[in-house]
Formats: sequence, structure tokens, C-alpha cells
Amino acid sequence: MPNTPMTAADAQMPDVLVIGGGNAALCAALMAREAGASVLLLEAAPREWRGGNSQHTRNLRCMHEAPQDVLTDAYPEEEFWLDLLKVTGGRTNEQLARLAIRESSRCRDWMRKHGVNFQPSLSGTLHLSRTNAFFMGGGKALVNGYYRSAEALGVQIRYEAPVDRLELADGRFIAAWVGTERIPARACVLACGGFESNREWLREAWGRNAAGEWPADNFAIRGTRFNMGVMLRHLIDSGADTLGDPTQAHMVAVDARAPLYDGGICTRIDCVSLGIVVNKLGQRFYDEGEDFWPKRYAIWGRLVAQQPGQVGYSIIDAKAVGRFMPPVFQGARANTLEELARQLGLPEPGFVSTVRDYNAACRPGTFDHTVLDNCVTQELTPPKTHWARPIDTPPFYGYALKPGVTFTYLGLTINEQAAVHFGGHPSTNLFAAGEIMAGNVLGQGYTAGVGMTIGTAFGRIAGTQAAAAAHRNQGVRHASA
Ligand SMILES: Cc1cc2nc3c(=O)[nH]c(=O)nc-3n(C[C@H](O)[C@H](O)[C@H](O)COP(=O)(O)OP(=O)(O)OC[C@H]3O[C@@H](n4cnc5c(N)ncnc54)[C@H](O)[C@@H]3O)c2cc1C
Repeated sequence: MPNTPMTAADAQMPDVLVIGGGNAALCAALMAREAGASVLLLEAAPREWRGGNSQHTRNLRCMHEAPQDVLTDAYPEEEFWLDLLKVTGGRTNEQLARLAIRESSRCRDWMRKHGVNFQPSLSGTLHLSRTNAFFMGGGKALVNGYYRSAEALGVQIRYEAPVDRLELADGRFIAAWVGTERIPARACVLACGGFESNREWLREAWGRNAAGEWPADNFAIRGTRFNMGVMLRHLIDSGADTLGDPTQAHMVAVDARAPLYDGGICTRIDCVSLGIVVNKLGQRFYDEGEDFWPKRYAIWGRLVAQQPGQVGYSIIDAKAVGRFMPPVFQGARANTLEELARQLGLPEPGFVSTVRDYNAACRPGTFDHTVLDNCVTQELTPPKTHWARPIDTPPFYGYALKPGVTFTYLGLTINEQAAVHFGGHPSTNLFAAGEIMAGNVLGQGYTAGVGMTIGTAFGRIAGTQAAAAAHRNQGVRHASA
């Protein structure tokens, strides 16, 4: 059947429209372009704030069978999978999780090709030299490298272009709208983050607690202000299949002085497993030594969110100094526990007796922060099950903590082709990658570096699939004309 000539509108229409401007979007745009598609990428942020949460990242969790350039030893598929299974408590889709894990073993050469360089992990970075490849220059350099490469390959990029709705027909993408501008394309990748920047939505999801507080009012957003969940809300309203609990998120304990947005990595407080954490009543509330910090740091935001006033206080003594990534703001420092309590505004007798009870419960052991050691407490509730050493060596330090939301897990259901589902059926030309679908793999919990694993794996898959869908779409148009 003869093909009809392209109209001017057809010629202008991009094959693939990518919505978002972080890691997942850029991976999708680059793969689609490499597959021969014309690509337009719409980033809500201005150029100087481009890159979403990805600009704040440091590393990627990678499966590998033997030592590689910056990765020590081996981290086989099964171990990665079991780590994920453990932190999610089974709330994960095994097929999609294993797909992401396998992809992580073969993406780094491609990343290098597009300007991403790696470096070994620095000391004090959560025991990650075996499992995580660190980006030279951090996520900002990664994002800049990808943008440079995308521009060089001819990907069209528009900043300050927040998409507010899509035109869909039976789950098929037709066009996106930025204000009054209609942007049609043959296929589309949604890579526009979760809804973590949307404080109203967080407030609605977390509701009011028994004390009448709105916990989400006290959250900091660790990353970008641009992930407002506009597309997620729109897709939910348009009948896309979703999964996940809106209160589930990657949430860490950050310095209570952190800014509302974009505090990034340096406001994280990483000494929790080296000391104790108390609430504003001066009481402990969770096992600070439950597991290695990379497998546990992301539960502490939630734990602090459940405390009165949504505050906690991480307490250490001089023995811990130099064993964790130093936070950007100095902590309170005192030579006595009473003085520390006064500086932190904690009830003095309650706090001091909590520390004394804890100290008395610490059993002698061989302290080793690189293994699950035998320094434990006995007959203490809650227990501290590793790295329990008395807090007895001045100066004492304390950091006020508040919950820091990294990204939310409520997202779009997808399949192995990253196709968005409607009523159980995959769309033929609408795909999703990154935070907006991370809930397929992360129903709860987190293990360091897996956000970038998911975004890179599904970004690459979505880009390839979108290019193929656009190609089919064009074929259909020609054949049916
Ligand atoms: C401080 C911090 C540190 C982190 N460190 C790590 C780490 O070391 N390793 C790791 O694996 N993960 C880390 N993460 C998590 C990681 O950032 C995310 O998992 C990952 O970046 C998600 O990529 P993404 O592309 O889906 O989202 P993002 O990078 O957030 O990109 C979303 C993009 O969509 C754009 N956007 C939003 N709405 C619209 C719209 N309506 N129209 C157009 N564009 C829109 C945004 O402007 C943004 O550019 C960290 C996160 C933070 C906040």
C-alpha cells in the first residue's frame, strides 16, 4: 500500500514526548533518540533548577558478579533481590524488581558514553563500596552530562514547560497540554516524579494524628519543589491503574534546620546507629542498631513523623565523631548530659534517666561498625541490637531531627515494557519511568541507591518502547491513509 506524504503538522510532531527532566526522563529521551526517534523533552523547572531529585543523588545500586572499576567484590542478583525483599517486606513485584536488578548490571557503560563518570565510595558513606557506584560530581554532574549528550544528539528540550493534562483515547496518548498549548506526539514517556513536593497532597495523605496535629506540616522536602504530582493526579482521574499507599515514601531524618525544599544530602543526619534517638519527651522509641544504616536510614523519617511534634533528637558522644558523614550544620555540644538537654530543650530529668538506663543496659562486646556486631542492650525496651555502647564520653552531641520526604511511592501500574495500565490493559503508546512508577518495586522501605536503579532501568526501557511505539504508530498512519 503506498504511503501518503507527511503533512506539515505530522512532520513537526515529535515521535516521542518525554515529560520530566530528571534521570528517568533523560534516560528515556536518550534511548528513544538512539533508536532513531525525534524527541521533545518538557521540563517543568527553569534550566538552573533542572534535573529534579536526580540532581541531588550520589549513587546507583548495581548488581555485579565480580569486582568492577569502582565496585568491590560481587553483588549477585539473588543478594540484591533478597535485600529488596527484606526492606519492602514483600511489597514488591518480583518480575519488575528482577528486571531492574539485571538492568543495573549492564547500564554503566551506556551511562559513561553519555558523560557519567564514577568514583569509589568515600569513607563514611554508609558501607556502600560493594553495592553502589558513586557518580563523580554527584547527581548534578550526571544530569548535566545527560543534558549535554541529549542536546548533542538533537533532543529538543524545553524548560519551564509544566504539563497539566494529557489527551487520551482509550488509554492511548494523543497530546499533552502546557497551559493553552497542545503538544501532540506519537508516543509519550511520563517521568515526572512523585507528588512529594505537593504539601497539600502530603497533608491530605497523612491526615491528622490523635494529638490533633497535621504531621505533614512539619516535613521538609529533601529535593525539588517541582514534583507536584500533577500528572499522577491527572492519570488517576483518567482511570490509569495505580498502586501504593499515599503515605509510603522514602523518608529520612534530616536536620530540623533544613530548608523546606532542596536541602539535599548534606542535611541528612547519619549518626543514628552510633548513638540513641529520643523524642521531645526524652524517650527512646526504636532500635537504632537494627541493621546496617543503608538498609535502615530511610525508615527514620517515618519514625520521627510518628513522634509528638514530629521531632527527634539524635544523641552521640565523642566516640562516634569521625565515624559518619558530618552534617552541614553543627550539632549542640555539651560536656554534661544535663547541659545537652538544656541546649536541645529536652526535659532534663527524663532525658538523663533515658541515657542512664540505656548505658546500664549496654553489654560488653566487640564494637565494629562495619559488621552487625555483638554490642547489644539487655532488658531494655526498645532494645538496641547492634553497636550499643554507653554514651559516657564527653563532649556529648545532639541533633534535632525532622522528617525529610525524599520521594513518594504511590504510582502508576506498569508492565515489563514500562507501559501504563488502564483497567488491566497496557497502553500501546504511554509509558512511565522513575518515581512515578517506583511503587511497583518499592511498596515500602528502601535500600540506598535503588531509586536510581529503578529510574535508569525503566527510563531506558520506556525510551526504547516509546520509540518502537512511535514507529508502529507512523506505520499504522501510513498504512491506513
Ligand atoms: C536529597 C536526595 C538524595 C538522593 N540520593 C539518591 C542516591 O544517592 N541514589 C538513589 O538511587 N536515589 C537517590 N535519591 C532518590 C532519587 O533522586 C530518585 O529516585 C530519582 O532521582 C528519581 O528520578 P526521576 O527522574 O523519576 O525523578 P526526578 O529526578 O525528580 O525528575 C522528575 C522531573 O519531572 C519534572 N516534572 C514534574 N512535574 C512535571 C510536569 N507536570 N511537567 C513537566 N515536568 C515535570 C521535574 O521538574 C523533574 O525534572 C535521592 C533523592 C534526594 C531528594
